Amino acid sequence: MAGRQATAQPADRPPPPGRVLIIGAGPTGLGAGYRLKELGHANFAIVDANPYAGGLAHSFTDDAGFTWDIGGHVMFSHYDYYDRVFEAMMGDEFTLNDRESWVRMCDRWVPYPFQNNIRYLPPEVAYECLSGLVKAKVARESGRWDDSSPCPGVAGAANFAELCRTIFGDGIMKHFMRPYNFKVWAHPPEMMNKQWIGERVAMIDVDRAIRNVVMGLDDFAWGPNNRFKFPLKGGTGAFYDRIAAHLGDRIQLGRRVVSIDVDARVATFADGSTERYDALISAMPLDVLCRGVLAGDVPDAIRDAAARLRHSAGYMVGIGIKRPCPSTKSWMYFPEDNCPFYRVTYLSNYSPFMTPDKDRCYSLLCETSQSDFKPVDADSIIDSTIRGLENAGLLEPGEREDIVTTWVYHAEYSYPTPTVNRDEILAQVIPWLEARGIYSRGRFGMWKYEVANTDHTLMQGVEAVDRLLLGTPETTIGIVYESTTDGRQAATHARPSVAGSGEKRLAAKAAAAAPAASQSVEPKPATTPSKTLSHQQAGDKPEVDVAEEELGVTQKP
Ligand SMILES: Cc1cc2nc3c(=O)[nH]c(=O)nc-3n(C[C@H](O)[C@H](O)[C@H](O)COP(=O)(O)OP(=O)(O)OC[C@H]3O[C@@H](n4cnc5c(N)ncnc54)[C@H](O)[C@@H]3O)c2cc1C
Repeated sequence: MAGRQATAQPADRPPPPGRVLIIGAGPTGLGAGYRLKELGHANFAIVDANPYAGGLAHSFTDDAGFTWDIGGHVMFSHYDYYDRVFEAMMGDEFTLNDRESWVRMCDRWVPYPFQNNIRYLPPEVAYECLSGLVKAKVARESGRWDDSSPCPGVAGAANFAELCRTIFGDGIMKHFMRPYNFKVWAHPPEMMNKQWIGERVAMIDVDRAIRNVVMGLDDFAWGPNNRFKFPLKGGTGAFYDRIAAHLGDRIQLGRRVVSIDVDARVATFADGSTERYDALISAMPLDVLCRGVLAGDVPDAIRDAAARLRHSAGYMVGIGIKRPCPSTKSWMYFPEDNCPFYRVTYLSNYSPFMTPDKDRCYSLLCETSQSDFKPVDADSIIDSTIRGLENAGLLEPGEREDIVTTWVYHAEYSYPTPTVNRDEILAQVIPWLEARGIYSRGRFGMWKYEVANTDHTLMQGVEAVDRLLLGTPETTIGIVYESTTDGRQAATHARPSVAGSGEKRLAAKAAAAAPAASQSVEPKPATTPSKTLSHQQAGDKPEVDVAEEELGVTQKP
């Protein structure tokens, strides 16, 4: 194998990038545009096929006055820069919510994280889960399962399924991990890699799980240190609408890119118009970009590699009910097959303005995944969701009479599946694109679920611009460029410290005490005063290490 020299991406300040075209006015594109404007680089445009900004982080208000997000959006920021953009755009117009999440199974509510609250389960299920945890610990230490088959251990696990079994054992695997993760990802866990989840689940504390059962202790992963902000009015999308307004005529909505000539560096739009660029930041799905949009000298190997990326689609179903909200819960996980959804959010608990009448209405937002492995009948998704809510005990008998609105959004691209071959594909495709001035970034531009939340994607846009204008290496995407001694540029992957949702905030306030970094944020003119907590009350406390949301089990310290 060829030896490696330098690491990192370009270090010196590069020449000005000229015309920057950004495809997608979602968080990635808006983050890029915000940073370009901040750095005074005026020669850019953001185009989006949708007639609105925000992408998957957009919010919709229906005719009945209920506001809906595309799936429950919880904002756990890992970045001071992101926080400063939020503050500059939203001022103090946000609510501050205590996380309260639960797992619904065996006809009862089990507090999150699942493995610390096994005592809530029926005795026979609790026994299977605990016994499995102990056997897995023994297997990890001895290298053999109790039937003497080899146990690969955490390091040797070949995929997500093996990793889960090795860490949690057969009981939790059977009752929670396998059914829940299939409902979320719509792919068998054997197809998924283990890198997306990182090292943290390996910290599972068997003793603590046993202690909580035997001593009857509660062990919840929420509390005052585990709060999230939410825009006061207009849902998650309000933040992105404000960034779009800030960028003004740099944003062109309703403009779909249909073709990109990689040699001439020209994008062609659905209406036949064209635009030349020097650098392109694209947040459209990477497989779509490579298979159908790129034109010119594009090797089949690049198109074929990108076509092997997998994703799931999703139905977001909103149910608006004319009754006072019966619960303080934030969101809930559903591993069982008595309902189609994997997660439901009490969206009306996030802000008093999510329904037309906060005292008399509440809203549930239900997410159901879909793929070739997991078909969903679009025509009956509302009915099956309502039935599922009844089965899961969320709607009381007779409560369906009080449903005053339903809302459905089908996300064709909902979750980028972290398949076992994903990183290899990205290491081939991303550098090839970059050599032609195309920076594919964002949830489906980079395809890395572990850095695909709103804070990550906005910062992917910011960091791409910093790389173009300042020569600063990007850190969020977790791709490290290395020059090999035979003169090639190799792309390798490193899980960034900001990966995952709800993780510890980076460096907490120590960073804030340090001298201001090169990134600053323009102050925003005063906005409407908040009726909720002030920013000072919000307090940027370090968040506990709580959630890889789609796993439902991450350990708190
Ligand atoms: C179900 C679900 C739940 C989520 N929950 C959370 C959460 O709890 N917390 C959180 O922080 N994040 C959450 N997210 C993630 C969040 O929505 C994404 O991080 C974010 O929207 C990704 O931004 P993006 O700009 O990379 O991509 P997108 O939002 O997908 O934006 C891409 C844009 O590109 C445009 N585009 C595509 N093709 C073309 C073309 N050919 N021409 C022109 N424009 C084009 C699209 O119209 C779109 O507007 C969730 C997402 C989903 C789907």
